[in-house]
Amino acid sequence: MNNRLARYVGEGRVEIVEEPLPSLPSGGLIVRTEACGLCSGELMSWYMDRKLPHVLGHEVAGIVEQSEDARFPVGSRVFPHHHAPCGQCERCESGRGVHCPTWRSTKLLPGGMADRFAVAKENLSDTHVVDDLRAVDAALIEPLACVCKSVRGGGRGKAAVIGLGVMGLMHMLLLEGATGLDLSPGRRDWASELGLDARSPEEAEDSAYDAIFVCPGSQVAFETGLRLAAPGATITMFAPLGPGEDLRVPQAAYFNDLTIRNAYSAAPHDTLEAIEALRAGKVRAEQVCSEFISLGELPEAYGRMKRGEILKPMVVW
Ligand SMILES: [Zn+2]
Ligand SMILES: [Zn+2]
Repeated sequence: MNNRLARYVGEGRVEIVEEPLPSLPSGGLIVRTEACGLCSGELMSWYMDRKLPHVLGHEVAGIVEQSEDARFPVGSRVFPHHHAPCGQCERCESGRGVHCPTWRSTKLLPGGMADRFAVAKENLSDTHVVDDLRAVDAALIEPLACVCKSVRGGGRGKAAVIGLGVMGLMHMLLLEGATGLDLSPGRRDWASELGLDARSPEEAEDSAYDAIFVCPGSQVAFETGLRLAAPGATITMFAPLGPGEDLRVPQAAYFNDLTIRNAYSAAPHDTLEAIEALRAGKVRAEQVCSEFISLGELPEAYGRMKRGEILKPMVVW
């Protein structure tokens, strides 16, 4: 039996190929994939073209098929984070696990968009048994953990979320009573149907928000955030700008005492918070995924998400 997997081959294209099955890593797991979401970060060609050839998929959940760790018995449903910190270095101990050298060196083999993948022993420090979650919800743990980190440090008070793509929607679902802004009527309609307050950017009041989350990585989106910011507000940049682009921060940000912060990825304590939010039913896959597809349908869905025609596909097995 071979392992089917989705490989990013460059220039915005994905192919399904077959490779031998991964072998069980010492002290690790073999997982049979049940669900894997396509991440918006995997659509950024400038970022992905640096990683070639790259197997897609890190928003993943599946069933343990082989195990060398008693905490993760065969047959249990797990979420393994594709990067996991050592838990012992100074950065880990000060809550900066994302910047632990081990974090970057760890990954799933070959990746989550595959029939089966291996989880190395090092990744088990951020792997969790989630038998009580549906696989499609467990596959949201990784992106939701990034949003938990963003929201936790994003300031208190009246909140606004700029951009109502998947990550913006997750912010909205966690932040009760936030105002969501998007230029796209289709995205606003999707958010409104979820009962969220969705408006076009010009409908939002200037200088009225205390906690602003900028989900698209763009200067224009940041400037919308500046316009909405009340004195003393916090603006969180959730995504990077394009390659070679630098954020321009006007002097007014200083005199308005604005805090401008970044929220990149997520560490184990964020993962735990995301699992709790999913257990509490705050976010469900149907709220943020517009299609549930087979692996064979992914190359086509990849192009459609990249062109903004669909919100987000999740591959289910
Ligand atoms: Zn991602
Ligand atoms: Zn560490």
